[in-house]
Amino acid sequence: MTRTNGTAIKIALVGIGKIARDQHIPALAASDAFELVAAVSRTGGIQGVENYKTVEALLAARPDISAISFCTPPQVRYAGARAALDADRHVMLEKPPGASLSEVHALETLAQDKGVTLFATWHSRHAASVPFARAWLSDKTIKSVRIDWKEDVRVWHPGQKWIWEAGGLGIFDPTINAFSILTEILPVEVHVTRADLRFPSNCETPVAGEIRMDGPNGPLVTAEVDFLWEGDPLWRQTIETDGGTLALNQGGAVMEIDGQKQHGEAWDNPAIHGEYDGLYARFAELLDTKTSEVDLRPMVLVADAFTLAKRFDAPEFIDPSLMEDSHAG
Ligand code: NAP
Repeated sequence: MTRTNGTAIKIALVGIGKIARDQHIPALAASDAFELVAAVSRTGGIQGVENYKTVEALLAARPDISAISFCTPPQVRYAGARAALDADRHVMLEKPPGASLSEVHALETLAQDKGVTLFATWHSRHAASVPFARAWLSDKTIKSVRIDWKEDVRVWHPGQKWIWEAGGLGIFDPTINAFSILTEILPVEVHVTRADLRFPSNCETPVAGEIRMDGPNGPLVTAEVDFLWEGDPLWRQTIETDGGTLALNQGGAVMEIDGQKQHGEAWDNPAIHGEYDGLYARFAELLDTKTSEVDLRPMVLVADAFTLAKRFDAPEFIDPSLMEDSHAG
């Protein structure tokens, strides 16, 4: 199913929206491991490849396509991913990997039974400084973690109604990226102890909140998250340790220690590519080694935040790009 004699693995993309166009298509164009040959799209699809209306139609028509990458919203991911695994195809899932933990567990079991690869991706873990932060923190005692994850949904997710519908996560759609970095770099496990979440009166998901987590020895993490933050986004984690303070900025791209920007050789190395190049390189490795990668810890933290949430009312949210509909949700 994977590369033989240097030939690229044929892959299809499902759901041709913002992230497919901004990241997946360019990353696949730059990849030696994969060849993008088809898409599944309810609307336009991708020029220059075969487009199908449903995953089932693709699976029936193209048995030669061994890998399928899903870029649909989490609420509509499961059925297509299940059909693909059932048809012996390898599957890559955008974050979050599904609408619920139980459905992703079901996909994981199916992939195992079928002997194919399931890759639940966390693109932020492939940001340039994340491996260096993990290495630096590995022998430190963590004293506190402060997460600020604040961006303007009207700028970054215009018109995406699904974010405001149950399963779309609201502010946790970006915040789960912070949690994917956190669980990757911290040398200790954390668990949610409290979540104060603000829900707009016309939405099913929260727009802002504060989340607290404990480590093994008590309170450790405070996260302030906001989807209506105006100006430059704040995607920052500040980690105080017994050996100094590490700050990861710009979603894991930039690292400072005690206020000094770090300039490791690797940062200037052209071999260090973007997050999505890293994701597809990892998918190729998983196919080569016939393994799956499904780390659900970021999703568990989000699910626990919803479980423990104290709910507060927030003003109605109006998406300016949907003014003709007048409501986002
Ligand atoms: P999007 O722009 O809304 O695109 C999603 C695409 O999925 C749609 O364009 C549509 O493509 C397809 N789709 C199928 N059923 C749908 C339904 N019921 N409702 C809406 N779309 C449906 O969303 P996105 O920003 O690309 O996000 C998709 C996934 O990628 C999410 O899990 C998100 O968290 C993740 N992600 C997004 C970003 C980002 O910055 N936007 C970054 C990283 C990860 P067709 O018309 O072709 O069927």
